Amino acid sequence: MPSPPPTARECRSCGKSYPPEVYVCPICRNILVTPGTRAKTPGWIIGLLVAIIALLAIYAAVLAYQVLVLHRF
Ligand SMILES: [Zn+2]
Repeated sequence: MPSPPPTARECRSCGKSYPPEVYVCPICRNILVTPGTRAKTPGWIIGLLVAIIALLAIYAAVLAYQVLVLHRF
């Protein structure tokens, strides 16, 4: 299978293509905005992790409660 083409991007200021790993255009020094690349961890991922941890905690609490109830009876 042929390898996918490199993700070349075009500068919005001068229209020249630039490699995806740069953040400033090498031709016109325009600051390139590359959304979704090497940014901070998105908030929804943190929220998802917190939700998973909360669900696990609730599940563990329910299991512990059931075990305690079963032990009592
Ligand atoms: Zn440029």
